[in-house]
Amino acid sequence: MRARFIVDTNAGKLARWLRIMGYDTLFINDIDDEGLIAIGLKEKRVLLTKDTQIMRRRVVTSGRLKALLIIDDDSKAQLHYVVEAMRLNQKRQFTICLECNQTLVPRIKEEVRELVPPYVFRTQSRFVECPSCHRIYWRGTHWQRMKQELEMLVEVEE
Ligand SMILES: [Zn+2]
Repeated sequence: MRARFIVDTNAGKLARWLRIMGYDTLFINDIDDEGLIAIGLKEKRVLLTKDTQIMRRRVVTSGRLKALLIIDDDSKAQLHYVVEAMRLNQKRQFTICLECNQTLVPRIKEEVRELVPPYVFRTQSRFVECPSCHRIYWRGTHWQRMKQELEMLVEVEE
């Protein structure tokens, strides 16, 4: 089964990177340890945290809740660690909304004519939309840059 995550409030940037890689990753502001644990257990998510206290809890030490302790402060180093530890792959890059963690839905070009800048409409052919926030994504320069960063960061599995 493809791993799913819940990220503690102390490692928020990591959530964004995991979403870029296409991993279902919850990040909730203002959640306490009990909340993180409850959701992790209920939805079978791996908890990513910098909090050593949580790691010492019985629910984690017993293996009931899978959790990884994030030590690095740099979000890319954090991602690298998670990719290695969880053997994550790059097969579903850019399939999840970076803001709401929803699976993006393909849109045909004509549907987005009024929704994207004219230059983007002229130069891009593939578009996807978030069913929740309705943000439209396309493979522009920002996308290319993130893709390159990911590729430098983690080995691409072919
Ligand atoms: Zn969204």
